[in-house]
Amino acid sequence: MHTGRQTVGAAWGLDATGREKASGEALHPDLKAVIELQQIDQRIAELTAQIDALPSQIQTLETQLNEFIHAHEERKQRLAKNQKERRDLEVDIQGIQVRISKHKDQLYEVKTNEQYRAMLKEIEGEEAKIRKIEDQILEEMIEAEQLEKHIHDAAARLDGEKARVAGEVKQLQALRQADEEERERLEKQRQSDAAGLSAGVLDLYERMRARRGQAVAEVREDFCTACNVRLRPQLFNEVRGNQALLTCENCSRILYYVEPPPTESAEAQGADARTSA
Ligand SMILES: [Zn+2]
Repeated sequence: MHTGRQTVGAAWGLDATGREKASGEALHPDLKAVIELQQIDQRIAELTAQIDALPSQIQTLETQLNEFIHAHEERKQRLAKNQKERRDLEVDIQGIQVRISKHKDQLYEVKTNEQYRAMLKEIEGEEAKIRKIEDQILEEMIEAEQLEKHIHDAAARLDGEKARVAGEVKQLQALRQADEEERERLEKQRQSDAAGLSAGVLDLYERMRARRGQAVAEVREDFCTACNVRLRPQLFNEVRGNQALLTCENCSRILYYVEPPPTESAEAQGADARTSA
């Protein structure tokens, strides 16, 4: 379970390394309280951002599925149109064939060679039309074959796509539920934590939070990590003790200090000291 308290503990390295003990000083209770309050506020903000992003994530998934279905339906319509076009072209050929056979009958009735040649030319023209239409039919058939393949593949995938989207939507909704529950719990915890603070401390925290978003800043080395300005040596010395609510002279945030983790060489020296002792 994620609680503000645990997060603060982790930030302070109060676990196995026992850094707080090593420094020999406990945090001032007010300082500890505002750090914890900030952890809670940051987690609430994270949860809120996640909750607010969910509807558009669900929308995206549903749009993907709708586009898939739409493309599938469009191909089916295109195939139906293709089939109708092919039938129409075949009807056209039949009409031309009727005309050709009429012309062929007329060949026997013509009186002159000139008329005969003209009639033959007429027939050749009609036959050329048929070949052109047959080429069109062939193109339509090639298109139909491709459409049928696509339609077959999409139909096979459609149920899977629907199940995938439904599954992902369900997961997102479950996440939303969990986020909302966690946020509600943290909001209650925040209320009781805030009630435990003195009015002055809470007011300082809330004013800084309203102004800066983040009210409390860690000091690392001798820098304020929020505004990256170096602390004056005297202020740094005071902040290091973590025994009062001190604020950054540049950004006015409440400051706290975390002892840097021991470096590798320091650990190695410690190990040397132990082995030689
Ligand atoms: Zn600062």
